[in-house]
Amino acid sequence: MLSCACVSLSGGQGKTTVAFFLSLLLASQGKRVLAIDCDPQANLTFYLNHEVAANQPSLLEVLTGAVTTEDGIYPTQHSNLFLIPADRSLFKVSDYLINSGTGAFILKLRLRNVQSLFDYVIIDVQPSRSQICLTAVGASDTVLIPVEATTKGVNSLIDTLDFLQDQTSIMAFTGQILGVIPFRDRWVGNTQTIEGKENIAAMKEFAGDIPLLSSIRESEQFKRAIRKGKLLSELGHSDLQYPFEQIIKILTHE
Ligand code: ATP
Ligand code: MG
Repeated sequence: MLSCACVSLSGGQGKTTVAFFLSLLLASQGKRVLAIDCDPQANLTFYLNHEVAANQPSLLEVLTGAVTTEDGIYPTQHSNLFLIPADRSLFKVSDYLINSGTGAFILKLRLRNVQSLFDYVIIDVQPSRSQICLTAVGASDTVLIPVEATTKGVNSLIDTLDFLQDQTSIMAFTGQILGVIPFRDRWVGNTQTIEGKENIAAMKEFAGDIPLLSSIRESEQFKRAIRKGKLLSELGHSDLQYPFEQIIKILTHE
């Protein structure tokens, strides 16, 4: 089982989009995938068409140990793809994680029992240096950093690299950063916008040895595919799916 988290400390950087398409594509290739929604905003849970019922366990109960990890895992409408969902109650987990004294290691611990059930764990992470973010990163063998091809995106990259460096220095992150994914890269016809080009050049500089992966083009088709719960290729846009195929190639070599 290999775990991969989508981490970027600003909002709207493409974390949930990457987690969604990556999970769907891996599952469509026959891999057993567990998606984990580590964001109380619960967008990934919503994208995967799951609603947490009042009496049903979600990531909160899994993290606090109120239920076994298996009891917090649900099938989705996609074969091979399972979900530990979230809802707003996940905000409450911070106290538990702080008081545990080893908050950064709790998710890793909870996943130990289900290791043999999945090939990949894909984690969508909340955009802040929160306890939930710490435990998500602590459970990750690999990390992807999606960042918008804007100044805000470049700043999110700087903050995220700084954060991962801090976590590495205390051994709370021992995984590998697979790459930076420019998100919403705008092209007009065959021409990349100057803003996109400049910001991606800046990302390259800050990323140093970390690879800059293929960018995700600005396109309404992504939202359409998410709404329909389909892959881009299923809607006739295989070209837009390339970044996720590239990530899978890298992941399968890990
Ligand atoms: P948050 O920090 O709020 O969780 P996020 O980093 O998870 O945000 P997303 O939710 O993945 O970011 O994406 C931000 C928005 O961009 C969403 O509304 C999403 O539907 C939209 N979007 C996704 N892909 C594209 C695309 N290729 N082009 C334009 N918009 C897109
Ligand atoms: Mg999100």
